[in-house]
Amino acid sequence: MESAIELLVVGPSSARIEQISRRLEKQGYPLHIAAGLVDARARIGEIPAEQLVVLSLQADSQTLALLEPVNGFPNFPMLLLIDQNDTPATVNAIKAGVINVLVDSPTTLDTLSESIAAALDEWKLRREQHLANDHAARFGHILASSLTEIYTFDAETLKFIRINHGAAENVGYSREELRDMTPLDLKPLLNREQFEDLLRPLRRREKEAIRFETLHRRKDGSLYPVEVQMQFADVEPPVFVAVILDISERKRAEEKLQASDARFRSIFATAAAGIAILSPYGEILDANPFFCEFSGFRKDELIGKNIEDVTHPDDRATTVDYYSALRHGRDPIVNIEKRYLRKDGQVRWGHASVACVLDRDQSETYCIGLVQDITKHKEAEAKMQAAYSELDAFVHTVAHDLRTPLTPIIGIAEYLRTHAAKEFDPTALNLLADIENSGYRLLALLEDLLVLARVGHVQQPAAPVDTRRVVDEVLMNLAGPLTKGKIKVKVGELSPLYLPKTLIRQLFDNLIGNAVRYAGAAGKPSEIGEERQDDQIIFYVRDHGPGIPEKENGHIFEVFYRGETAKQVSGTGIGLATVRKITRLYNGDAWVETTPGGGSTFRLEFPISLLSGAADANQTG
Ligand code: ADP
Repeated sequence: MESAIELLVVGPSSARIEQISRRLEKQGYPLHIAAGLVDARARIGEIPAEQLVVLSLQADSQTLALLEPVNGFPNFPMLLLIDQNDTPATVNAIKAGVINVLVDSPTTLDTLSESIAAALDEWKLRREQHLANDHAARFGHILASSLTEIYTFDAETLKFIRINHGAAENVGYSREELRDMTPLDLKPLLNREQFEDLLRPLRRREKEAIRFETLHRRKDGSLYPVEVQMQFADVEPPVFVAVILDISERKRAEEKLQASDARFRSIFATAAAGIAILSPYGEILDANPFFCEFSGFRKDELIGKNIEDVTHPDDRATTVDYYSALRHGRDPIVNIEKRYLRKDGQVRWGHASVACVLDRDQSETYCIGLVQDITKHKEAEAKMQAAYSELDAFVHTVAHDLRTPLTPIIGIAEYLRTHAAKEFDPTALNLLADIENSGYRLLALLEDLLVLARVGHVQQPAAPVDTRRVVDEVLMNLAGPLTKGKIKVKVGELSPLYLPKTLIRQLFDNLIGNAVRYAGAAGKPSEIGEERQDDQIIFYVRDHGPGIPEKENGHIFEVFYRGETAKQVSGTGIGLATVRKITRLYNGDAWVETTPGGGSTFRLEFPISLLSGAADANQTG
């Protein structure tokens, strides 16, 4: 809805104002009559410019000063109504920004309302033009002062016509000097013919614009790289418009990138590790000399092959799996020990680290694989394993063979002591008891040694073993000492494990047995439970007994080591060695910590992969 015009009447004679007001009131204008110039100024500030028309009945300079043009344009339309034709006053008023000057007559008054509406329309139109001109002027000014170089040059003579501030600034010539020059004077790499070749598609209107990179030479002779954009403007006389961007920074960044590429290339070429660039599906895109040597293939043979083709058949499924994990972002980087199959059929072990990254323009993913040759290390490890196996077998045989004659020795000593006691004096009977006790100790030692030697030779279970049940069985076996010593043990949740039952039994037999033997007297219950930590599951057996003296901490897991706490307690010093051997066999570890407030907390750490799916479900459910 168009808002009504508000008319402000300014004039010296109140009689005259009255007369005009009466006429206008009939035409429905909200009318304000200014009581003097100060009041007029205040009213002007209150009425929105879009609606205000000022009708002045006097043309003195103070009244005209109400117009206060901003940027040469008055803030509102003013109409001047004078008694009789007065050319100098009219010119003055128009100069000051008055929209129209009316001479008083009955017709003028009859059509005053139309004149007022026309004045407002005219003012609005002029304001639009003024703003457009103003914008153009400002834009021109911005271009002129821009630091980007902008030139126009004559299409015929190629001489510069207009040169902006940035251009003069960058090239170091004054505008006067430049007006006698052509773009060729700035472009040492181009001659007239070459420049014309570039301009031709513009002249023929085949192209809207052209863009090229070249060097510009400053007045002081220094050169700088530029990107030139040129257009043809069909004005009179026709000109070319050139916008020049100084691309020194961009060039420097490109050079840096090239340098870092070169560095990568030299690392790639000389690294003492295999480096391969692969697609996220494992297709080999590039391989360095070390990788070629490692795999036995030439580079051109490798490119296009899949990494599976150079992987040992037994490790192919794992390889496919980890590429899938990388592709789907499940793993940002994969570290794996795997076997490679060389061209000559030999097997090599490698430690591979693979990560996938987006290329420079973020459009494609590629993977970088780093392979270290660990064949020798693996061979040494296998030899060591074999030696350990031999040692286990030896210990097993010796313990077994020693145990055979031991049973009758103990049996005979016991028989003589109990059935033929009359034949011996008390000293001889004591000696027989000693033989019997030592025999039993030796038997326990041999039993423990047999267990220790057997650890690495137990069959993996097909189904997860219920750890909690094994612990309950151990506790049942210990029912005697537990009841006798009024010893309490609290058992928490324990996840089933893919670990042979005999080994789980050994672990808890030893740890709970120790807690009972060494810490039973403490009075406080021992606790058995588990915790998760990253990719590990940690079982613990915590007691509140005497604890392990710090100096013994590194030794108690050694075979035959017996600590200070063991002085009054019989044992073989093999239990904890067996515990550690079992955990390490399954890529875990065992250690002891001090229980807060005193006592020992033994921890058994295993990789989470030893947990069954059912155990996982129990945990989360
Ligand atoms: P053994 O118990 O037969 O001596 P272990 O290998 O089981 O052999 O333990 C080695 C030593 O560690 C023990 O002799 C004892 O000194 C110490 N030890 C083991 N468990 C505990 C415990 N819960 N509290 C205090 N000392 C312990």
